[in-house]
Amino acid sequence: MNLRAFDESIEARRRALELTPGGVHSNVRLSAPNITFARGKGAWLWDVDGNDYVDYLLGQGPNFFGHAPDVLNRSVADAMSRGSVFGSQNVYENPAGEAFLDTVRWADQVRFGSSGTEVVQVALRLARALTGRDKFIRFEGHYHGWLDNVLVKTVNGIPSPASKGQVESHLTDSLMLRFNDLEAVETALAHRHTEVAAVILEPVMCNIGAIPPRPGYLEGVRELCTRYGVVLIFDEVVTGFRLAAGGAAERFGVVPDLATFGKAMAGGWPVAALAGTADLMESLGTGAVNHSGTFNASVGACAAVSASLAALRDDPPYARIEAHGHALMRGLRELGRRHGVPLRVQGLPMAFHVSFGDPEPVTNYEDLQMLDLDRYHRFAAELANQGVWVAGRGVWYVSTTHAEPELEAVLERVDGALEQLVRQ
Ligand code: PMP
Repeated sequence: MNLRAFDESIEARRRALELTPGGVHSNVRLSAPNITFARGKGAWLWDVDGNDYVDYLLGQGPNFFGHAPDVLNRSVADAMSRGSVFGSQNVYENPAGEAFLDTVRWADQVRFGSSGTEVVQVALRLARALTGRDKFIRFEGHYHGWLDNVLVKTVNGIPSPASKGQVESHLTDSLMLRFNDLEAVETALAHRHTEVAAVILEPVMCNIGAIPPRPGYLEGVRELCTRYGVVLIFDEVVTGFRLAAGGAAERFGVVPDLATFGKAMAGGWPVAALAGTADLMESLGTGAVNHSGTFNASVGACAAVSASLAALRDDPPYARIEAHGHALMRGLRELGRRHGVPLRVQGLPMAFHVSFGDPEPVTNYEDLQMLDLDRYHRFAAELANQGVWVAGRGVWYVSTTHAEPELEAVLERVDGALEQLVRQ
């Protein structure tokens, strides 16, 4: 019997609806259960009613070191006691840049920014500047931020704006292709490479589903980009520092020309980065290509990057995270079988996708539409009720702080949620 009460969250929600549209400050949160959290520590969250939650959403990914990580908070607080932004360079920038380039080893230079959305834009701008071409190739279901040229909804493969007020013509900047279909990239580039500045992709499609690249796919895209003089951009905002210290580029052994980072890079601090080869990054330095921002490389941001990357270097967490993720994926499948529901678990142990349905394999956005996404949404709501915090879109992230007690708690709570679900 679930005896949790949510009175304070309901009251906070009532007031929030008066203060802010939809009661949320990011539209992504409009469809999440209406819980107001009071605090987090490690892999756990507590709401304003005192209910606890095992967290596998990690703030949409950033809390790779769990909530309020001591190792980060101490150095960020110490740095912030000396100020935040100076309108010039600060003494924390070089150590952060060095830590970054020691970790993302293929890149020659890095530029810090404040959000993933923004660094994607500068990556596209650099690619256009270098090639003198305007368009870019992208893939169905991949998310690259909320701005006009990348926010898209596709129905039967046809892209359209995902928001009212979006400038529709901006979407003609991109050619939308199906992920994991190398032939599609080959055909598009063979016919239109003189128009195409860049190919941008999530190396593992994480925003909808958790779909790894097919063997040889990334290598093939790399080869085609080199052949046609097109800039290859890995959007590593989710995969960076999560799949391996050096991100998807390290894990799959395929090197892009530019890559964007955020989330796991700074353990909850709002920091993003653009990394690239020297020839591409150069035009930011000459001022030919503009990228600006009041808060870029702030003291706190740089201290957070340095502390996070030092933690990854000194105590690499990847084996622990993989072990936890594998055990959890196995446990979820087993619970699905026991309850007689087609619970699918797919992806990598540090970022996997949970859904209902049985298409095999799920390799692209179209396959994902065969899943019972509504049922998963109801399941996620019931999980919140039982004390497991996950995304309604099905992706689960594992942090360095998830261990045995969390595994035990989550499986027990998932068991309870499935019991409720099969009764519905
Ligand atoms: N790219 C990818 C792959 C992302 O997952 C996200 C955010 N989910 C973004 C870009 C945009 O990042 P932000 O929300 O920091 O603007």
